[in-house]
Amino acid sequence: LHKKKLFVANWKMNMTTQESLAWCVTHKNELQKSSSQIVICPSFTALARAGEIFKDTGIAVGAQSCCEHEKGPFTGQIAAQDLAEIGCSYVIAGHSEERALGVTNEIVARKMVTILKAGMTPIVCIGEPQTIYDAKTTTNFLTKQLAPLLAVTDQGAALCIAYEPLWAIGSGIMPSLETLKTIFALLHKKAPKATLLYGGSVNKENIASLQSIPYINGFLVGGASLNFDEFNLIIS
Ligand code: PEP
Repeated sequence: LHKKKLFVANWKMNMTTQESLAWCVTHKNELQKSSSQIVICPSFTALARAGEIFKDTGIAVGAQSCCEHEKGPFTGQIAAQDLAEIGCSYVIAGHSEERALGVTNEIVARKMVTILKAGMTPIVCIGEPQTIYDAKTTTNFLTKQLAPLLAVTDQGAALCIAYEPLWAIGSGIMPSLETLKTIFALLHKKAPKATLLYGGSVNKENIASLQSIPYINGFLVGGASLNFDEFNLIIS
């Protein structure tokens, strides 16, 4: 799906709209120099203007979530089509912070379908909690998370799948390179047409070793994407 490496900045709810837009304006030129595909995911309220700032730069804008329904009586929800109309080309679906609020694998799969239907690329997050990791049942857990996604795509075609172990998110710790090699080989086998990303405590120190892992085509970066100097070292 992606020839270039993909770097997705997930800003979560860490910056205000004004702060986000100032970041985009200030760093647009420098970001454009990257040979990778950059996707900036600010909060919903910053998306339209971020899309305008990055118009014709090759830098993409993504949303952090969307509704699983296309339209209708869903007060407070945001439709995938609306995100496409304001210039988003990617949408994160099923981030663990969203799943923690009750979003199931089946809902994530429906979000994925609406995102694809609106012409955007879904970045679907999967990953096991600490208890599953400790019990050494990660493979089984990921297989179950992937099942509804793979049931409605051709081997993950047009999908980005981000493997983010929950215990590695924002913690400063991550799986060993050996573990990641095994997991990404498995993900590639299950979804050979998907673009596979790693996420969880990626920073300027560990990015080089992560880049060497087969089948990782990009990264989802949370905390380290807020500071431009650090993010710039990660993407270059
Ligand atoms: C994330 O939550 O998507 C993430 C990758 O966070 P962090 O990089 O801060 O661990």
